[in-house]
Amino acid sequence: MNKIPVGILGATGMVGQRFVQLLEGHPWFEVSQVLASERSAGQPYGAACHWLLPTPMPAAAQGLPVKAISPDTAAKLDCRLLFSALPGKEARPVEENYAQAGYAVCSNASAHRMDADAPLLIPEVNAAHTRLIDVQRRGRGWPGFIVTNANCSTTALAIVLRPLQDAFGLRRLSVVTMQAISGAGYPGVASLDILGNVIPYIDGEEEKVESEPLKLLGKFDQAAIQPADFRISAQCNRVPVLNGHTECLSLEFEQPADPSTVIEALETFSAGEPVAGLPSTPARPVIVRREPDSPQPARDVETQRGMAVLVGRVRPCPLFDIKLVLLGHNTVRGAAGGAIHNAELLLAQGYLES
Ligand code: NAP
Repeated sequence: MNKIPVGILGATGMVGQRFVQLLEGHPWFEVSQVLASERSAGQPYGAACHWLLPTPMPAAAQGLPVKAISPDTAAKLDCRLLFSALPGKEARPVEENYAQAGYAVCSNASAHRMDADAPLLIPEVNAAHTRLIDVQRRGRGWPGFIVTNANCSTTALAIVLRPLQDAFGLRRLSVVTMQAISGAGYPGVASLDILGNVIPYIDGEEEKVESEPLKLLGKFDQAAIQPADFRISAQCNRVPVLNGHTECLSLEFEQPADPSTVIEALETFSAGEPVAGLPSTPARPVIVRREPDSPQPARDVETQRGMAVLVGRVRPCPLFDIKLVLLGHNTVRGAAGGAIHNAELLLAQGYLES
């Protein structure tokens, strides 16, 4: 099949670079447009972008001219699918402008995540929520649409909660996160603030982690998403780790659960078709580790190209029912890799046909 040309909004940033990296050699998509602010516009991507990833910048991207994001750019791109890695504030008007002009926008930004008519999507968790696109297009009168992926901490959490909700029903949970500095973009947190330190505050993060899973695990009733009704308490911390968000959970269920049945539910979790056949779907969405000191971000974050969530230390909880630790790659599964995965699902479901 001919590859589908795609554009990246915010291509020079931390997540934008991940898009460029992960789309190199992608079987379905190829990068044809890179867009950023006026600061970068007019330069070749190789010059405009301060490349931060450990693999070389793809040769095909180096010479692409960076275009400025402006209202009149919308009509001039040679692609119909856009990935957005814009800061939240900039994302709202820009993404709406492109959707109105007929583009399919797969966004990482928080701007539209909780909009009642915008799918908040993780293919293994809620593939049926893409039908909200039809509601969005009818309501807004757009030929294009916006689909969002979840916050980086929420993503790994929701992938673990899906099989547990299905097997036992969730009543309430406490989650404490230890989040990597790459999650703050570049240059992000000042080195003097984070080296040898823990910052017990990430602006807006706890609100996202407490609300987004309820939409993700909610039910689409043909008109809207009815949110799930369990309760979440989140405490979010920034720690001096490069990549990978670690989260400590205590969970209370509706049905009896013990470590062995929880492990079985996690290990047998798999996506049905068409999700199982998508290029970015990992062989196993959740991998349970038995070693007493796993998972660890420095050792495990790249497992299954950063698309699997690792779980360890599944054990009884004296306050709730079960405690466990999970690890997810924040800029791959929790950002660019997740948005590419969403676009693959949209293609498989026929939403990218012009
Ligand atoms: P970042 O490194 O600060 O990059 C921001 C990008 O947006 C750059 O390409 C920048 O272009 C562009 N930009 C900034 N202001 C603009 C403006 N006014 N007009 C046009 N372009 C503008 O941020 P990031 O970490 O990649 O995050 C991007 C988005 O993904 C955010 O919404 C973030 O919340 C979300 N996200 C991040 C993570 C993560 O782990 N980092 C995970 C999930 C979601 P210039 O280079 O030209 O300034």
